[in-house]
Amino acid sequence: MKKVLLFTLMVALIAGAAFAKGGSETKFVTIGTGGVTGVYYPTGGAISRMVNAKPEYGIRATVESTGGSVFNINAVLSGDLDFGIAQSDRQYQAYNGLAEWSEMGAQEDLRAVFSIHPESITLMASVDSGIKGIADLAGKRVNIGNPGSGNLQNSLDVLAAFGLSEADIKAEQVKAVEAPGLLQDGRIDAFFYTVGHPNGNIMEATSGRVRVKIVPIEGPEVDALLSQYSYYAASRIPASLYSSAANDTPFVNSVGVKATFVTSANVSDDVVYAITKEVFDNFDAFKALHPAYQVLTPEDMLTGLSAPIHPGALKYYEEAGMIDLINPALILD
Ligand code: GLU
Repeated sequence: MKKVLLFTLMVALIAGAAFAKGGSETKFVTIGTGGVTGVYYPTGGAISRMVNAKPEYGIRATVESTGGSVFNINAVLSGDLDFGIAQSDRQYQAYNGLAEWSEMGAQEDLRAVFSIHPESITLMASVDSGIKGIADLAGKRVNIGNPGSGNLQNSLDVLAAFGLSEADIKAEQVKAVEAPGLLQDGRIDAFFYTVGHPNGNIMEATSGRVRVKIVPIEGPEVDALLSQYSYYAASRIPASLYSSAANDTPFVNSVGVKATFVTSANVSDDVVYAITKEVFDNFDAFKALHPAYQVLTPEDMLTGLSAPIHPGALKYYEEAGMIDLINPALILD
């Protein structure tokens, strides 16, 4: 009996040692995304599948559905996540200690890797609500986004541009994934979502019994907003991508930002280099993975960044001859 026990123990020890060896070779990384009906979640999936398919990197990437940009930035900074997808405006605010970071101060360990697809502040409303513009939101039940999302601050900024605050509407702060159902059930009149197009969320919102449309965010108030904040730009939402939307024009004016891929200064150069290389070396394959990437060019993916570029990514951009495309202020010595 003793011999059997000893033998079992030895087998367990050897197996344990082998596992530990294998474990030290594989680097496990987690990418924070957003709600499952947005574009961040499939984007994290696309990046992780590409990297996991190449055993030579020794990386095993997994994707986490999260509350969005602000959550991802904070989790990357605390080391709970290795990478996160975050709006360009939120990257700027975190690095400069603004908005949610005004009390904590500048988040100097935040690092940029690359930009991804364009996103637009998207206001969806039921036709019956009579909402035709931001000013009509007064007194209405509106989801402005969950704490931790990128869109919460965007909703507040857009409202403020029209002289409205959270107190002037019946504000909800639920996750984007729940908003289409609430709109279709008549429990809200409208919702804001800062997102790339097309996406499953807006598809869901426009596909039910209740007629729903994309509401324009435009006018002199918006022009003033664009000149106040450098990280906002005019954008157009291709409404024609949603065949059931109650819009009669192919494009709807709005305000845009960019999705960006961020990490922390504490994440190793090898891992950041591998992910950057995989995405840019296989750019056409990456671009084919989601229709929201249709407009992407490698050059675009190096704009809209405000935190310093991670040295692992920089190593790739140097090798690939792309360094001149990067704002020199983002290159640390
Ligand atoms: N822009 C949204 C946010 O930060 C997420 C959009 C998406 O998941 O595609 O929070």
